Order: sequence, then structure tokens, then C-alpha cells
Amino acid sequence: MTPPSSHRDVIVIGAGLSGLVAAYRLARGGASVLVLEARQRVGGRTLTVPLGRGYADLGGQWMSPTQHRLAALSEELGVATVPQARSGHMVIQWADRTDRREPWWSRLPLATTWELTRRVRQIDRLCQQIPLDAPESARGAAEWSQQSLADWLDQNVRTHRARETLELASQLVFGAEPHELSFLYVLHALGVTSGLTGRRAFGPGATEMRFVGGAHRLSRVLAARLGPIVRLGHRVASIDHSGPRVVVTCRSTVARSGGAEARFSAQLIILALSPSLFARIDITPDLALTAAGCHGGRLHLSPVIKCAFAYREAFWRQDDLSGEAYRSQGAVRAVVDHSTPDGSQPALLAFIVGDRARSLSAGQPAERRSLVIAELVELFGRRAEAPVDYAEKNWPDDRWSPGCVAIVGPAAFESPPHRPEGGQPRDPARPWIIAPGTSHGPFGRIHLAGTETATRWPSYMEGAVEAGERAAGEVLSRLAQRPPA
Ligand SMILES: Cc1cc2nc3c(=O)[nH]c(=O)nc-3n(C[C@H](O)[C@H](O)[C@H](O)COP(=O)(O)OP(=O)(O)OC[C@H]3O[C@@H](n4cnc5c(N)ncnc54)[C@H](O)[C@@H]3O)c2cc1C
Repeated sequence: MTPPSSHRDVIVIGAGLSGLVAAYRLARGGASVLVLEARQRVGGRTLTVPLGRGYADLGGQWMSPTQHRLAALSEELGVATVPQARSGHMVIQWADRTDRREPWWSRLPLATTWELTRRVRQIDRLCQQIPLDAPESARGAAEWSQQSLADWLDQNVRTHRARETLELASQLVFGAEPHELSFLYVLHALGVTSGLTGRRAFGPGATEMRFVGGAHRLSRVLAARLGPIVRLGHRVASIDHSGPRVVVTCRSTVARSGGAEARFSAQLIILALSPSLFARIDITPDLALTAAGCHGGRLHLSPVIKCAFAYREAFWRQDDLSGEAYRSQGAVRAVVDHSTPDGSQPALLAFIVGDRARSLSAGQPAERRSLVIAELVELFGRRAEAPVDYAEKNWPDDRWSPGCVAIVGPAAFESPPHRPEGGQPRDPARPWIIAPGTSHGPFGRIHLAGTETATRWPSYMEGAVEAGERAAGEVLSRLAQRPPA
């Protein structure tokens, strides 16, 4: 076996936003650091690509004004933010009609408005009953963890339009279908963000600000400052933390390298990727966390495809439309204006989520392009027919981040039908959920970062920053305690 080629204080695994933030804080704290990233790029679930004369955010995109860590980081890195363009009317296309030009809720029958208001308040009240660091200890937890969101809607929602609205909200917030979400997970996830009303899926809230040049810039600037300590194309295959040093074995993902092996050692490790991917790394001794951390196999990333279209002009604005649209039917669930902040490149961005993303993921980009254009024409008219450029990201097909938000299925849904490998049997002795904030260990010499381990806004960039900063802080204080060499 080849000996480790170099030794560091800390190895960070994963050069997404969380891993890079951790590495940056560690390096500034005086630690020697190495970052190992499987892909040929940094940024993980953030990805900004050229689109016409502008650019498109095909991964993480928005920031909420309540996400203070992300705001502070963007200021520190010199990445400016701008409000998401929203002036003009929103379009909502229901199964049986299209609403334009007035607040969408003003056209709802009174019974529906009444029911929607009550159900949203009810969900927000239930969220408040969930202890954020121990959701499984809530009074109704046993029942809610067995139930899916769809079960809860079946039992509580009577009017057709209220159901349609809440299903659409679930698809928009989680990128997933109500039947694949544990109701306890939904309550907890809303509780650690800003509840259903605070989030306002149909308007500003979590989607209020964009990053000038794209969200990916945050990671690119961090990586540029870190320099050669960030090693791309290094897939971590195993971690051995049984001895006095942790030994990490990587396989090269560079084509023509033949999967060459490299080994590194460190005092401590920060694992900065979604717990849904831990099982791909051979960890010795096994993290007691792994099975429970993956929620007994019920944690997976929700499927989302983003499709961006550049146009010669922002024709929707000429019709006093904002470019923001929601559909309860078809492939596309949401569309937003994605023009460059200076207006030099008009653009629309469409989201395909849940079951539709899963089925369309297997097709070709040209098919998705035509399908989405046809739906944009239904929303905005014939001028949507002729984009000058197209870019897409099919996340379910991505080897390193096969989705968007880490979601937990109901206990009764151990083997999601879309997962070819099936679910894992759940160990009844383990709590069904590892709450963010209590799940980050450390586990021996392994510390966890990654957005899923954040206490606030897990699954968002804010959560990634919080987790990266927290893990770096833990590691720096541990390094400070070690005896002098
Ligand atoms: C379509 C989409 C839309 C989104 N929209 C928003 C939004 O508007 N606002 C928001 O705040 N958030 C949004 N998010 C979520 C946000 O992008 C993520 O929460 C955040 O980027 C996660 O960062 P992370 O560093 O925790 O994880 P990741 O970005 O997943 O980083 C983990 C890294 O680990 C690497 N890796 C995996 N396995 C290995 C291995 N074995 N060895 C080495 N490296 C490995 C991966 O390649 C990856 O680079 C969105 C995400 C998607 C996909």
C-alpha cells in the first residue's frame, strides 16, 4: 500500500460552498489544509454558466435578506447582490384556467381562500411544536414520521384548489412530490427556515436576492484565494481513522488517469458533502452516524432540472408581466426572470421538479428544450418560441450531487420506487431523524460540514456557510489544544 504523500492538519472533503468556507476559515486561522474535490470544478450544487451575452445560475441561486451569514460572506468576497426582478404581474396556470394581471389569490373562491389560510396557519403552528434540535421528541412525532405530506393533505384539505396550491408549494419548496416527504420532515424543515408563511413560495422571501455574476462566484473567489491547496479531480474513496492519523485514499476522476490512486494523511477531517452520499465512501471504523445520518436510507436529494433561455428582448415586460409564473400541470412548475441585472441579456429560467424531473432526466437536452419552450409559449405567448441561447442542468443525472434539497421520506416509504437500489432497512433502535445541529458530531477525528448539518436554513447556501464556519471553529479549537510537537 502506498504511504500517504503528504500530511496536513486538516483535510476537507468536498469543495462545495461549505467545504470551501471551512477551508478558508481554517487557513486564515493558521491551520495547514488540503481540500479534495471529486469534480473538475468547485462549487458543488452551485453552478453558473454562460448564457447568450449573460449567464445562468443552474444550481443555487437566491439569497433571503434574513440569511445574514451568506450576506456577510458575499460582502467579504466582494460578490454584490441585487434584488430578483419582479415588477409586473405574475402568471398562475391551474389545471383549468390561467390567472394573470391580478393577485392570484383574489380570483379564488372564498371557501378556498378560507381553507388555504387555515391550513397554512395550521402547518405553521405545528412547526412551532417541533423542537428544532430533537424533532423526534415532539408529541406528534411518531405519527408524523409515518405519514407523508400527501397523507396529511388527504386528511385535512377539502377543496380542490387548496390541494392543488399546497401540492404546488411542496414541489416549489422541496423540489419533491408530497407523497415522498415525511410530514415530520416537512414540519422540521419549515421550522428551521421561516415556516410556510415566512417563505412565501409565491413571492419574495427565500428568493429575494441574486448574486451579480452568479452564486457560483462565491466558491470561485474562495477557491482562488485558497490556491493550490484545492485539488480537483480527487474522489475520496476511503477514510481510515483507526490510527493516530487519518488516512484518506483518493481515485483520480481525470479522464486518461486510469483512476490513479493518491493517499494523504491529516490530524482531522471535515466531511463537507450531503449525508446522502456518505455511503459511497468506505469509512473505517464506520461512522456510527452513517445509517442514521442517512435517515435509514430515506434521505435523498430531490430531483430538479433547470432550463435557461436567453432572448433578444424581455418581451414579457412589454405585456406588464414580471416573467414569474407557476404551473400546477405539465413539466414546468416555475419560471422566473433571469435577465442580467443591467438588462443587457434578457432571459427566463424554468424549473422542472419532482416526478417530472425524474422522468425527463433520461431524455435529451433538445427534447427538454422543445417541451419547455412549448410551455413558455402557453404562459407568455409566441415570442417565447425563439430563444437565442439555451443552457440546462439535469441534476438527477449528476454523479456528484444527484439533486437539490436533501429530503426525508416517510417511514412507511422505506424503498422509494424511483431509487433503483431500493431503500435500506431502518434500524428501529436509531432515531428516525438526525436533527441538523445535533448531527454534526464530531465522530472521532471526523467533523461534519455541508449544508445538511446546519441549524438554520439547512439545504440552502446559508446553511452551507453556517456549517462550514462551525466545523472550522470546532477544528481550530481542537488543534489549539494539541500538545506542542
Ligand atoms: C437546482 C438547485 C437550486 C438551488 N437553489 C438554491 C437557492 O436558490 N438558494 C439557496 O440558498 N440554495 C439553493 N440550492 C441549494 C444550495 O446550492 C446548496 O445548499 C449548497 O450549494 C450546498 O453546499 P455544500 O457545500 O453543503 O454541498 P455541495 O455543494 O453538494 O458540495 C459537496 C461537494 O462534495 C463533492 N463530493 C461529493 N462526493 C465526493 C467524494 N467522494 N470525494 C470528493 N468530493 C466529493 C461534490 O462534488 C461537491 O462539490 C439549490 C441547489 C440546486 C441543485
